[in-house]
Amino acid sequence: MNIQDKITNYLTELHLSEIKKSLPELLNQAVTKQPSYPEFIKNCLETEVNARHQKSLKIRMKQARFPYQGLLKDFDYGFQTSVSKRQIETLKEMHWLKDAYNLIFLGPPGIGKTHLAIGLGIEAVNQGYHVYFITLDELLTILKTQNMLQRSRQKIKRLLAADLIILDEVGYGEVNKVEANLLFQFISGVYESVSVIVTTNKGFDEWPSFLGDAVITTALLDRLVHKSEIFNMTGDSYRLQHRNTIFK
Ligand code: ADP
Ligand code: MG
Repeated sequence: MNIQDKITNYLTELHLSEIKKSLPELLNQAVTKQPSYPEFIKNCLETEVNARHQKSLKIRMKQARFPYQGLLKDFDYGFQTSVSKRQIETLKEMHWLKDAYNLIFLGPPGIGKTHLAIGLGIEAVNQGYHVYFITLDELLTILKTQNMLQRSRQKIKRLLAADLIILDEVGYGEVNKVEANLLFQFISGVYESVSVIVTTNKGFDEWPSFLGDAVITTALLDRLVHKSEIFNMTGDSYRLQHRNTIFK
């Protein structure tokens, strides 16, 4: 067996598939560029590490289940003036995520709540965190079916393992008492260990009526708001202002 075959076998045994894939190129470069021995080893390891980071990023981005690519760089702060670029730039540093703070984006439809939540979520994924995007409606469905469906249990497991949960569209549908209780239990379960971004069209004073129970609402908000930053957003709907019509 020649030396290159031996190296290939070792790389297989050590699961260093990226070095294995690039071995001819790495060896070629070594001949043409004449790196020092440490530099050559560094180049090999870098090939493996970079490829693994890319793969993990791709998987985490897919697992986050973002409904669309709401990038922060595309956000127009001139249109939405109740949130400043400076605030978002500070949030991009993710200190709040490390400290399990929650963010609440509150306001009428179409003003960029979900866009900002996704934007921060994408940023978190880029920085190595696990993120899970879910609407309240979907969350309630999986909480209600967890005893019957393995699929729901799996999703809950993923949610609990995330660093950041984006809970979207809170307040759009009516929530019954059983659902309110399940939501409360879920939020209590992740309290102080997982960050939650909530987007909602309902002011806190309206929560008791859509959750149908004042006691549960108080307990839920108590946990959600304890360590949180609340963004009271106002303004016109971006959708309506930038409406596309069939007739130009
Ligand atoms: P909501 O507040 O109802 O969650 P979205 O965040 O989903 O609204 O925004 C609705 C649409 O308008 C999305 O396509 C989003 O990208 C766009 N949008 C809203 N606000 C802005 C903004 N300030 N700059 C750029 N795009 C925006
Ligand atoms: Mg939304």
